Amino acid sequence: MATSESAYYLPEVLPPAGPAPDGRDKEFWEALNRHKIVVQRCNACGNLQMEPEWLCHKCYSFDRGWQEVPGKGRIYSWVRIWHPIPPALKDSCPFLVVLVELADANGLRIVGNLLGDPNQEVQIGTPVEAVFEDHKQRNYTLLQWRQVK
Ligand SMILES: [Zn+2]
Repeated sequence: MATSESAYYLPEVLPPAGPAPDGRDKEFWEALNRHKIVVQRCNACGNLQMEPEWLCHKCYSFDRGWQEVPGKGRIYSWVRIWHPIPPALKDSCPFLVVLVELADANGLRIVGNLLGDPNQEVQIGTPVEAVFEDHKQRNYTLLQWRQVK
């Protein structure tokens, strides 16, 4: 388990995480730095969506807004990674990736890691809570998850 002596779930071997070059998700990343989760909320029709885009997928308005959602959800799907795509993570296996259905967010889902023992039992539907993993030296925060006991 490569993460046992690190403050981070995975080693910092990948480029820093952060906003897309065009800035369409800048508010999401800024909120993570404040340990908040925001999702895009259309000011015209109220539709919630994730990933952030320049327009609403429901009504095609460009009038974008944001809504804070609780750092809670349930595991919608998950995978234990044994053969990572980035070669830099080959010594960090296994690790867990979860797709979390956010609470109070109209079924929106977001990807993260499931913290703790990488060999832990994982079940669909398990409640999880957000963990904000600050990478202060590289100026970003990752949204991670842990099971609620
Ligand atoms: Zn809309």
